[in-house]
Amino acid sequence: MVAGGSFAGASEVSTAPVAPLAFRPAPAPIVEPIHAEPGPEVAEVVPIPNQDVTGLRFPSGLTISGGSKHRTILFTFDDGPSRRTTPRLLDMLDELGIKAVFFVKTESFGNGNPWEREHAAIVREIVRRGHTVGNHTETHRQLPLLRNAEIEAELAISERKIARTIGRMPRLIRPPGGALSERVQQLLGENGYTSVMWALYGGDLEVSTPEEVVRTFFRVLERRERETGDRGGILLMHDTKAHSLDAVPRLVDALQKRNCKLLAEGEELYDIVDDLGYFIPGHEPDQSLEERQEELRERARRACHTVALR
Ligand SMILES: [Zn+2]
Repeated sequence: MVAGGSFAGASEVSTAPVAPLAFRPAPAPIVEPIHAEPGPEVAEVVPIPNQDVTGLRFPSGLTISGGSKHRTILFTFDDGPSRRTTPRLLDMLDELGIKAVFFVKTESFGNGNPWEREHAAIVREIVRRGHTVGNHTETHRQLPLLRNAEIEAELAISERKIARTIGRMPRLIRPPGGALSERVQQLLGENGYTSVMWALYGGDLEVSTPEEVVRTFFRVLERRERETGDRGGILLMHDTKAHSLDAVPRLVDALQKRNCKLLAEGEELYDIVDDLGYFIPGHEPDQSLEERQEELRERARRACHTVALR
C-alpha cells in the first residue's frame, strides 16, 4: 500500500518528519503474555523464543527518528505479512544472518481476510526466527487525520490481533506513511508505544526493480551524509514487494564491497545491526559498536582478501 503524503512524488524521501520527543517515564509495566479472547488462530500457537520480541525494553513515549552518526544500518519491513513474499524474505534473512523489525498491518491476519490463518502463521514464524514485530495499525490510515478515539480503536484492534497471534503485546509502532503530530506522539506514548521512524529508504514503493532500490538507497545515504552528517540509519523497506526482497542481498553485497574500500582506508565499516537500541542515545545494547567493528574488520580482512585474489 502506498504510504501517502510523506513519499509524494519523490524516490529520495529520506527523513522522518518529526523531531524526537523527550524521554518520558514509562507507564506501569504491561503484564505478559496477554491473552486476548481466543480466536481461530490460537489453535496454531508455536513456541516463541524467550526474548523481547516486541520491544518492551524501550521507553514508551519515545520517537526513534532513525538516523545514526555511525555506519550502522537496521532493516525494517512494513505492510506485511504477505503469503506471496514474506516467507521467502525470512529464508533470505536467515541466509544473510540478518535480524530485522517487521511492522505488520493487522488487516491481513484478521477476520475476513481469506488468508488470515496463513498470515497469522507467518507472523509467528517472524518471531520464531528471532525477528522483532511491531504494530503498523489495522487499516494503515494516517494517524494525524484521525481523532483520538479513532486512533485508540486502531490500536485496540491491532493489539488484540498481535497479542492473540504471538502471545505478546506490541510495544513498537511505525506510524503509517511516517505521519505523526505532537498530539499523535503523545497519544501513542500514553498507550505504551515507542514510535520507530526511519532515515534511509530505497524507494521500493516508487520503483520496480531491485537495482533501482539499491541505487536509490545509496543516493539517499550519501545525501543524508552530506546534509546531516548521518552515515547510517534505520532502513525502511516493504516485505510485500518481490523487488524489495531481491534488493536485500544486493544491498548487503554492495555494502560489503564498500567495506573493502573503507577497510583499506582505515575507516569505520558498514554494520548491519539487529537492535533498535543502537539508534537510541544513551541506550546500551549488549555489544558495543566498537566491539562489532573489531569483528567486522576481522571478517572483512578475510573476505576482501578473497575478493581481491579472484
Ligand atoms: Zn506502510
